[in-house]
Amino acid sequence: MSARILDGRKTAAEIKEQLATKVVTLKSKGCIPHLSVVLVGEDPASKVYVGMKQKACEKLGIDSETIRLNADTKQDDLLNLVNKLNNDDTVHGILVQLPLPKHIDSKKVLELIRPEKDVDGFHPVNRGRLAVGEDCFLPCTPAGIQQLLLRNDVNPEGKHLVVVGRSAIVGLPFATMMMQKKPGANATVTVCHTGSGDLKRYTKQADILVAAAGRPNTITSDMVSPGCVVVDVGVNRVDDPDSPKGYRLVGDVDFENVKEVASAITPVPGGVGPMTIAMLLSNTLQAAEKSCKK
Ligand code: NAP
Repeated sequence: MSARILDGRKTAAEIKEQLATKVVTLKSKGCIPHLSVVLVGEDPASKVYVGMKQKACEKLGIDSETIRLNADTKQDDLLNLVNKLNNDDTVHGILVQLPLPKHIDSKKVLELIRPEKDVDGFHPVNRGRLAVGEDCFLPCTPAGIQQLLLRNDVNPEGKHLVVVGRSAIVGLPFATMMMQKKPGANATVTVCHTGSGDLKRYTKQADILVAAAGRPNTITSDMVSPGCVVVDVGVNRVDDPDSPKGYRLVGDVDFENVKEVASAITPVPGGVGPMTIAMLLSNTLQAAEKSCKK
């Protein structure tokens, strides 16, 4: 039997509907939520992501601007801009789109964003709070995966959750969230990476398998046990001469074959991606709420 599809577009739309009420309430109190997005350079994927974020804000009634800087922007100029946004009370959220050009130290830039405006959840203060289970901005993709599971009746509590990937923006924070003694988490977590050796040894044991490796076909059907819930975070461009763009997007999971073994699975596109954006909107509103209460 084919797996149930965990539809990220539908779930994200439900979340956005709830957030729209929050926007109306905030605006009625004279608080106009505002997100500033900074894009440095011409990376095509980054341009697409930034465009999607801006559009999502507009649709929800969140004030949003994209500040576009040339690829040869000096690091100091970017730092000055972040400082300016930090000190602007009308700006509630700041997002600097990654990756930044090689001559810019991303760490320095991310660390300058005020933690209370860090709606991506990448500032060390927010990362530290997450690690010890304190209130913080949750990074958008891990938060989106959790919401996608919970809102589709998959509760990680008591389950064996295997994460493939330990990056600072997906695998590691998601694993951290899932092992916490909190509702909607409290899972037993295994984290795999390139040093894990035989991946199948671990993935076969998963009740919930989250693939965030950034490589097509990292997860094939022989690596998944029947009934497993499979979340595919990967977004990979593969050549496709039949597509007008010359490429198509695929995840890390061999979707067609794995869906015959899994009980539920996320598609790419239309799975985790829309949830990431919904969480960015949610974090921005949280930032605005807190700032306007002051
Ligand atoms: P990343 O920084 O490249 O990290 C990839 C992780 O996967 C690393 O920890 C790496 O291990 C591990 N890995 C790679 N190949 C592996 C293999 N064959 N076996 C086991 N582990 C392996 O990537 P990322 O930023 O986490 O992103 C992962 C994917 O998710 C990418 O395709 C990205 O485009 C996508 N993504 C999607 C969204 C969304 O909203 N849908 C958001 C963010 C990212 P090592 O640590 O040992 O190198």
